Amino acid sequence: MRLVVVGASGRMGRMLIQTVVGTEGCTLAGAVAREGSAAIGEDAGVLAGLPPLGLAVTDDPLRAFAEADGVLDFTAPATTVFYAELAAQARLVHVVGTTGLSADDLKKLDAASRHARIVRSGNMSLGVNLLAGLVRKVAATLGEEFDIEILEMHHRHKVDAPSGTALLLGKAAAEGRAVALAERKVAVRDGHTGARVPGTIGFATLRGGSVVGEHSVIFAGAGERIELTHRAEDRGIFARGAVRAALWAFPQKPGLYDMDDVLGL
Ligand code: NAP
Repeated sequence: MRLVVVGASGRMGRMLIQTVVGTEGCTLAGAVAREGSAAIGEDAGVLAGLPPLGLAVTDDPLRAFAEADGVLDFTAPATTVFYAELAAQARLVHVVGTTGLSADDLKKLDAASRHARIVRSGNMSLGVNLLAGLVRKVAATLGEEFDIEILEMHHRHKVDAPSGTALLLGKAAAEGRAVALAERKVAVRDGHTGARVPGTIGFATLRGGSVVGEHSVIFAGAGERIELTHRAEDRGIFARGAVRAALWAFPQKPGLYDMDDVLGL
């Protein structure tokens, strides 16, 4: 499968290049960075810390997409929406790892998925998607006398909060309880907040250093607490999940898929 990495100079972009090159059955068909980026013209392999691949980073997504079967996209919401239109026109697989997409952005991805096979997930790792399944089950088993709180920590460069993964886990908890996350979510607490409202799902965000990603879902009852935790130690887990998603989506019909579909969970 011929894959293009967009946002090639980003932390995930470089990891994706390494992973595509190291995966049997995949070839790197293009590496795209934004116009004016210092990476334009640089060898994509060298950019990713590998030996030269003879493929220069480009700012021309149209030309790169014409030579490809799929696009791996861990960039920014506006950029992802732009690439979704191009990927749909070219009838490509579009794997979206970008987080922080608005309801309006999601509508645009939905429209693009009439022609493209889109796999989107706030977390592409096997471990977190398994954790989401466990959270769904625990939330369904325990009643509202157990308060659900989600704690996450990421590196200092992360720009959105709560993380896409924290929201994915919150959604799983809400599904377990057969409620809508939007109606139960408490993302910020500051000042005199009053007592905790029963049935809410709270989020707490920590940022600092180089932490790749840590998430805990806490079920706090009277006199006992259950904590389910995932610690990402290396961005390679997300990149491997993204490549696996692309390979899975290649023979599928156009539509919007997630990692549960890819992993058969
Ligand atoms: P990053 O290092 O800041 O990389 C973002 C990349 O996107 C950069 O190459 C950046 O280019 C590019 N970009 C941003 N705006 C652009 C624009 N307008 N046009 C073209 N390119 C643009 O961030 P990261 O840590 O790799 O994370 C990227 C995204 O993936 C974030 O949303 C993050 O939350 C998400 N993520 C998801 C998962 C998952 O499993 N789903 C895992 C990890 C990260 P410049 O360098 O030129 O600005």
